[in-house]
Amino acid sequence: MSKRDYYDLLGVAKGASADEIKKGFRTKAKELHPDRNADNPDAEAQFKEVNEAYDVLKDPEKKAAYDRYGHAAFEGGMGGGPRPGGGMGGGQGDFASAFSDVFDDLFGDFMGGRQGGRQRAARGADLRYNLRVTLEEAYSGLQKTINVPTSVQCGECNGSGAEGGAEPTTCPTCSGMGKVRATQGFFTVERTCPTCSGLGQIIKNPCTKCNGAGRTQKERSLSVNIPAGVETGTRIRLAGEGEAGMRGGPPGDLYIFIEVDRHKIFEREATELHCRVPVSMTAAALGGDIEVPTIDGGRSRVKIPAGSQSGRQMRLRGKGMPALRGGGTGDMFIELAVETPVNLTSRQKELLKEFESLAEDNNPESSTFFKSVKNFWDSMKG
Ligand SMILES: [Zn+2]
Ligand SMILES: [Zn+2]
Repeated sequence: MSKRDYYDLLGVAKGASADEIKKGFRTKAKELHPDRNADNPDAEAQFKEVNEAYDVLKDPEKKAAYDRYGHAAFEGGMGGGPRPGGGMGGGQGDFASAFSDVFDDLFGDFMGGRQGGRQRAARGADLRYNLRVTLEEAYSGLQKTINVPTSVQCGECNGSGAEGGAEPTTCPTCSGMGKVRATQGFFTVERTCPTCSGLGQIIKNPCTKCNGAGRTQKERSLSVNIPAGVETGTRIRLAGEGEAGMRGGPPGDLYIFIEVDRHKIFEREATELHCRVPVSMTAAALGGDIEVPTIDGGRSRVKIPAGSQSGRQMRLRGKGMPALRGGGTGDMFIELAVETPVNLTSRQKELLKEFESLAEDNNPESSTFFKSVKNFWDSMKG
C-alpha cells in the first residue's frame, strides 16, 4: 500500500504555514474523533495516518526532510527506525490514549467533558544509546552487552504503585473522572482533580520501594545483536526496551545509534574499502608480489606489475564490507604510493648516479611532458 501524501492527509497545500498545518490537523482530528465515529471502523486507521502526518509536518526538521525526500526520509535504519507517529503501537487502547495525548495537547480542558476524561497510564520514554564499534566489528557483526540506565517496572508492586501489588482504587473525589466541576456564578468550571492529579485512581498505601510511581531507576544489562554491515548513523530499534511506563503504562523503545570508529589502515566508502599501500621505488620498477591486509584479519597477495606508478589502483573482489541487509559484499581497492628512497648512503648514491647515466627511455611521462613544455616555449617566442 502506498502512503498518502502528508499534506493531502491534513487537507492543506504543500508549503502550508505552521498555523495552517495546525488548523488542518485540528479539523481532521475533530472529524475523526472516536465519539463521532462509533460506527466508522476506518476512523482509527485514518486518525493514525493524520496524526503521523501532523507529527512530521509540525516538526521543522522532519518537515524539511519530508519536503526533500518524501516518505523515504523516514524509512531507513534497522527495524523501521522511529515511526513518525511514535508512541502508537499496535496494542489495544493505544488509539484512545494517543487521542487523549493529542487532544490534551491541542484543546486542553475543552475535551475534558468527554467520557472518562482521565489520563491513561503514561507510556515510558524512548531511550537513545550511542554505541561505538570498530570497523572490524562492523565487518563481522557482534553480540554486545550494554548497560542502560533506565527505569524498570517496580518488582515490589508489579508496576501498580500500590503496596503489595494491590489494585488502585477509584478516586472518591472525582469518582474516577479525573476532573472536578465547580460552579462559579453562571459558569461551571472543570478542573483536574486535585486528589488524584487527573488519574482517576488513587493508591491507598503507596508502594514504599517506588513511592507509588510503579517504576524504579535501575541499570539494565541488555544483550544486543549488532548485524554485520552497520555504518555510522545506523539505528537499531529495540521495541519495548525503553523506559517503563508510569503505573503499568507501556514501555518506550530503545534506539541504538551506531558510530563506527575510523580505522588506521582502511578507509570505508559504503561497502567499499580503500587502502593506500606504499611500495618502494625498486619494487614498483621491477615488479613483484606484496602482501596486503584484509579487514577479516587475513592477508592477500597482490602482484605489482613492473613499472607501476603512484596512484595505480587494484581491486580485490569481495574483500570490502558486507551490505547491511544482505546483498553481498563490496570490493577492496588498494592504491599504490611509490616511495622515493631517503637517507641514502654514499654507495647507494653512487649506484643511482650510475643508473642515471645509463638512462634510456625510462621515464616516458617526463620526456613527453618536457617535449610539450619545449613546444610551448617555442610557440611563445613566436
Ligand atoms: Zn512499587
Ligand atoms: Zn480524582
